[in-house]
Amino acid sequence: MEYAPVTHTATDRRLGELPSGRDVSVTVHRYVGGAGPTVYIQAAQHGIELNGPAALRRLHDHLIDASVAGTVIVVPVVNQLAFDHRSYMTPGEYDVMNPNLNRVWPGDESGSLQEQLAARLWALVEDADAAVDLHTGTADMLAHVRCRAGDPDAERLAEAFGTDYRLIDGTEDASDDEPDGTFRAATAAAGIPVITAELSNSRRIALGAVKDGVDGLQNLLRERAVLPAEADLQADQTVLRNDADPVTATASGLFECRTDIAIGDTVDASERLGTIYDPSSFEQQQVVSATERGVLYSLARESVVVKGERLAGIATPR
Ligand SMILES: [Zn+2]
Repeated sequence: MEYAPVTHTATDRRLGELPSGRDVSVTVHRYVGGAGPTVYIQAAQHGIELNGPAALRRLHDHLIDASVAGTVIVVPVVNQLAFDHRSYMTPGEYDVMNPNLNRVWPGDESGSLQEQLAARLWALVEDADAAVDLHTGTADMLAHVRCRAGDPDAERLAEAFGTDYRLIDGTEDASDDEPDGTFRAATAAAGIPVITAELSNSRRIALGAVKDGVDGLQNLLRERAVLPAEADLQADQTVLRNDADPVTATASGLFECRTDIAIGDTVDASERLGTIYDPSSFEQQQVVSATERGVLYSLARESVVVKGERLAGIATPR
């Protein structure tokens, strides 16, 4: 490791072309110091998830005056189309095949627009030694960091990031993992330790979440020795497995969630979480119950629900 004052550059990277012939591009920040690892950090794959970009602006203020060993690559808004449209996913007008950017990684140069965008970003990712994908959940999702089972290096990143909860996906056997096109799955498959951070909450800047994000990133950079000083590891991070079946709607209608439950609560298997009613006939459509005993980490509070939609996420103790 060789610490040297940061040289910062910000460049435009052309990712694709709109029907009008205009470019889709992103700003790429590079903070280069002495010899050391490369850490890639991106935010705003989903256009309403704003605490990631807000955290990255604060990280920028720290990094430009720092001495680092290695390189930090930051793309604060990876999904320009969804961000400008202020929508979670990319409007179908741009890509009817793949509205969710986080389902097309590692992308395809000759594919649909979003597959192209991902492929041209992937060139930045594939040479990294570690990667972070910043997301923002709803107010009714526990702030947490996610990584894959059986990947101790990614677990160290998660521990260093330091949210109160760490969710472990999948099984120890990586070959069991379905390739789902998420950034994290594609990056892990490329052998790069990676975490997804779900800060809370979307559509607005939540200063507590922004602080969690920037503190987590700085501590993660210390853990990788990109920043000098010891990482402050959070020994009491609650580790949960994300292996319970999600609670989903089997009917469409109005979901009335029990008022006396909240994220972070432990629920029992089959415990009633709420009820879906037909708002026109007043008939009860579904008694919504927990699939397993575990910690509620997400809960639908937007009450119009459609069949198949996720109503709650439950994680089980490791
Ligand atoms: Zn997201």
